[in-house]
Amino acid sequence: MKALIIGAGLGGLLAGAKLSKAGYEVEVFERLPFIGGRFANLEYRGFKLSTGALHMIPHGSRGPLAQLLREVGAEVTIIDSNPMAIIKKEDESNIEFHDFKKGLPVTKQVKLGTILAYSLKFKPKGDISFRDWILKYFSDEFLLRLADSYCGWSLSLAAKDVPAHEVLEIIDNMYRYKGPGIPAGGCGAVTESLSGIIRSNGGKINIRTCVDRIITDDGAAKGVSANGFFSRLTCRGLTG
Ligand SMILES: Cc1cc2nc3c(=O)[nH]c(=O)nc-3n(C[C@H](O)[C@H](O)[C@H](O)COP(=O)(O)OP(=O)(O)OC[C@H]3O[C@@H](n4cnc5c(N)ncnc54)[C@H](O)[C@@H]3O)c2cc1C
Repeated sequence: MKALIIGAGLGGLLAGAKLSKAGYEVEVFERLPFIGGRFANLEYRGFKLSTGALHMIPHGSRGPLAQLLREVGAEVTIIDSNPMAIIKKEDESNIEFHDFKKGLPVTKQVKLGTILAYSLKFKPKGDISFRDWILKYFSDEFLLRLADSYCGWSLSLAAKDVPAHEVLEIIDNMYRYKGPGIPAGGCGAVTESLSGIIRSNGGKINIRTCVDRIITDDGAAKGVSANGFFSRLTCRGLTG
């Protein structure tokens, strides 16, 4: 069976690696002159430039992306951030991120632990911001500043600009999978490894090939037309 993939970014290459491992005849079409999309490193005057993603694998070696990379056999070394993050207090002392409650008096630590355990299981519904969600339970300057710092680090936004349920989802994932990791060799090493898997399974990756149309027949994809040529898709019930 043939699988045609539009775009050789991280998503297309991951899908291609998975499908080619599963026995599909994979063909990838990429309009740019390089593979990797926003997850690549380009050579420029002897240096490497990132095309988008800086360097982080969300949730490091235990996260969903790392799990997928292992599943397809990508040879990528992920170095987990250790410590995950540091909270710098005004007196210049440091608290490791997972000990963040230590910045609070004991009674607040217990209250926060209880509220957090409940809210991670039953995420708040509606549009309440993360800042307003904190203010519902606490009036504590340290927690508000920590919330801004956390949202800035994970989303580049302030706590007032992010829905509480979204931030709690991220906190939940951090408890489940831990913090980010760095791929040795940069983002380009990840996408290069994936393209290697596709090619070693007999797949083809065309660069400088812009798909201008998906050909359909009775609502089902039949092929693509790219740079004026037509590539057929062979799938159940269709011949190509
Ligand atoms: C500044 C920045 C920093 C980031 N930092 C991180 C980070 O640290 N960690 C992280 O995990 N993520 C980060 N990201 C996000 C990450 O880069 C993206 O989530 C990821 O690369 C998206 O992959 P994709 O395959 O979905 O899309 P893309 O990378 O955009 O790939 C889509 C590909 O499809 C091609 N294409 C589109 N249309 C056609 C067509 N008609 N025919 C042929 N080809 C086509 C495009 O040219 C492109 O190569 C960052 C993004 C940016 C912009």
